[in-house]
Amino acid sequence: MFQTDQEIIARINKLRAERNAVILAHNYELGEVQDIADFAGDSLELSQKAAKTKADVIVFCGVKFMAETANLLSPDKTVLLPVAEAGCDMADMADAEGLRQLKAQHPGAIVACYVNSTAEVKAESDICVTSSNAIAMIKSLPEDKEIIFVPDMNLGRYCMEQTGRKMILWEGFCPVHVRITAAQIRRRRTEYPNAQVLMHPESPKESIALADYALSTGGILKHARESNCQEFIIATEIGIMHRLQQENPDKKFIAASEQAVCPAMKVIRLKDILASLENMKTKVVVPEKIAAKARQPIIRMLEETARLQK
Ligand code: SF4
Repeated sequence: MFQTDQEIIARINKLRAERNAVILAHNYELGEVQDIADFAGDSLELSQKAAKTKADVIVFCGVKFMAETANLLSPDKTVLLPVAEAGCDMADMADAEGLRQLKAQHPGAIVACYVNSTAEVKAESDICVTSSNAIAMIKSLPEDKEIIFVPDMNLGRYCMEQTGRKMILWEGFCPVHVRITAAQIRRRRTEYPNAQVLMHPESPKESIALADYALSTGGILKHARESNCQEFIIATEIGIMHRLQQENPDKKFIAASEQAVCPAMKVIRLKDILASLENMKTKVVVPEKIAAKARQPIIRMLEETARLQK
């Protein structure tokens, strides 16, 4: 039966109330998904929300590792991923067995895992980081210890430059952010000479070197709100343009690359959120044997973040 968007939204809102559900959406999701969410944000903001929510059900509009993180932090809640196949290609580049082998080569090393990793990889890690707190988390680690950073070599390299800490980098990367090249940034700078370049640190080193600021998606949104600048070249996944334009109607935002589109972040539609709430699918549950260990690096990160934010 055909339903208009308005009918679908009305049914989602009814079920959201009946099931005491909260809808969380990543900043890269489609505009229609961000608009219906109770909260849209970056990975750190979403994990903080998931940890604190009083809802019984979390509908997580993002990719699988995010829903897993929500389940790890709120094991007594039902976490739903509306499209079960939505995965992160970068997270899938690291595996627990490979990480165990790397740890065996560097006994005593601390493992810092980017939140974009599977629960199995988190279970082998000591501390989790997100793009908004990675530098602070790395700085918090004892200086006499080696650090293994997994899976994003670009974020890892950026942290090394910013902290002066030498790290052993897993050679994973985001296939979306590597499309943001230095040549594109130079071209955009010529086209928009007054614009600031705001870039996600998953981007390649040569591109970050040309940015004015390297920021998480939450950081990009905050900077755009607070800056007096009127034009911005946005070097991250283009889903963020929706909220940037919504929050700053008088400012101009130019995508550094129209090719920076993450297919996994575009699969969830309003009809999927509705089906998810109707059928309570797809539940994301990390098996307790892995969860008990995978929870620890995330909790350590949230505690350290709370300490630094005081
Ligand atoms: S944009 Fe990159 S890091 Fe983010 S979900 Fe997509 S593949 Fe993963």
